[in-house]
Amino acid sequence: MPIPIHDPHQTPGTLKRLPLRKAAALFIVAVCLCLSGLLYLQLEQTRRQDLANAQIASTNLTRAMAQQAEDTFLAADLVLTSLADWVEDDGYGAAQRPRLQKTFARRVQQLEQLHGMFLFDREGQWVITSFPDLPRGKGVADREYFKFHQQNVSTVAHIGPAIRSRENGEWVIPISKRINDRAGNFQGVLMAGIKMAYFDRFFKSFSLDDSGIMFLGLKDGTLLARRPFDEGLIGSSLAQGRIYQKLLPEAPAGTAMIKSVVDGVVRLYGYRQLAAYPLVVASASSRDTILKGWYERAFQSSVIVALVILGVGLFGWVFIHQVRDGERIEKNLRKAQRTLEQIATHDSLTGLANRRLFEQSLEIEFARGARQSSPVGLIMLDIDFFKRYNDAYGHVAGDHCLTQVAQVLKNCCQRKADLAVRYGGEEFAVLLPDTDINGTLAIAGQIRRSVMEKYITHSGSPTGYLTVSLGCYSFVPSGNDSLEAFIQCADAALYQAKNAGRNRAAVLSLEAGVAELMRSDR
Ligand code: GH3
Ligand code: MG
Ligand code: MG
Repeated sequence: MPIPIHDPHQTPGTLKRLPLRKAAALFIVAVCLCLSGLLYLQLEQTRRQDLANAQIASTNLTRAMAQQAEDTFLAADLVLTSLADWVEDDGYGAAQRPRLQKTFARRVQQLEQLHGMFLFDREGQWVITSFPDLPRGKGVADREYFKFHQQNVSTVAHIGPAIRSRENGEWVIPISKRINDRAGNFQGVLMAGIKMAYFDRFFKSFSLDDSGIMFLGLKDGTLLARRPFDEGLIGSSLAQGRIYQKLLPEAPAGTAMIKSVVDGVVRLYGYRQLAAYPLVVASASSRDTILKGWYERAFQSSVIVALVILGVGLFGWVFIHQVRDGERIEKNLRKAQRTLEQIATHDSLTGLANRRLFEQSLEIEFARGARQSSPVGLIMLDIDFFKRYNDAYGHVAGDHCLTQVAQVLKNCCQRKADLAVRYGGEEFAVLLPDTDINGTLAIAGQIRRSVMEKYITHSGSPTGYLTVSLGCYSFVPSGNDSLEAFIQCADAALYQAKNAGRNRAAVLSLEAGVAELMRSDR
């Protein structure tokens, strides 16, 4: 196992790790969002397409309805116009009546939409009808169309609200014209009744959903014919509805989605106002029916996408868990590795660096010192009379004493590059990079005083307290120096300190290869 080297100058660079778990989670979320987004876009597009197709179909249907209504009323209008001209020219005296009656009957036979044709005099009494017998009764003076012509000089055809025939009770839509005499005075009304059943049949010929609606109404909103047929609604007013209130004033034809106030169903309405007559036609299909196919497709697509998202999510969950397990194992391994490194390079009792780390650090500092021409300082420390201490207080107290001295060393190693070492037994070393002999001696003195100031009682010491002796050495490495010689120099200084009476720090001078105590801190 490679032992990490104590290299305090190197910045402890932790490799920036790619946050794999986060990246995976983000990626999976992004994939799921993309899938959902694509699904949404696709569904929205097909929904719009289906609605657009329905709008086209609705426009075509209302166009067909408008055309049919126009043709129906136009044919009746033409018949009325020619007969009105005839009646105005020849009058409807007794001589004319048989011919007129026959013509009326023939026209009604020819045009299947006609229920009957009627000529009323100024008082609204029947004069001629397409039926063989004249009805008896009070006449039609109360009818809307009769009053209209009575009051309006216009000879344009008038379409009135649907009525029940007084002839046979059938629902008919009256189209009528005013009859004038030569002077332009009101002489009566010519009316053709158009069968509502004719529109009913036409409306029913289209395939429409159950909640679909088709209707024909007057321009003022009066309902003339409707699918589904509802007698109660005939003649009611649609004027307050959105088509009449808002849409028709804006455009004579169009489509709109409208929510019914009656049944709450949302329907797509197509509407068109006829150009030739004051009529409006409209058809409606419920939105749900229009989108039925789309709902089914949307459900299928959503299920498939949901399954894919579920699969991706499950895969992501498993993947992220595996990554997390891997990270946890890696973290534990790193921790174990750090513990092993600590064990291999540090002393278990004091927590200081051991000799192995010391020697490796020495090599590095020598190389650095040589490169930078900076001095490397070393202090060798030995506890004074430690044997006696052990003997007096026991090994456990001796061990405790060693940890206290180690603590002093740690405290005195201020700089990051300084390294306190348990060299062996009760001997310690302090490696001081970039420190000359004065600095080394100063720190040694500081250590010595700090130990003394702990006032650890030592009966076997002349001072009465635990003391240490220190040997200092510092030099500028040249690049080819011996570690052993370096240590020996500090060791020799320590020997000198011991010899000089202990409890002191000594510096060695190596002049002419002879070790000589140069100076000490006391
Ligand atoms: P001097 O002042 O000359 O250094 O005298 P000394 O008694 O300290 O020197 P010596 O080398 O004779 O004794 C060192 C003692 O240190 C011997 C041993 O009992 C003790 N010692 C060495 N390692 C340990 C240790 O790990 N724990 C304890 N408690 N004592 C130790
Ligand atoms: Mg010793
Ligand atoms: Mg000793």
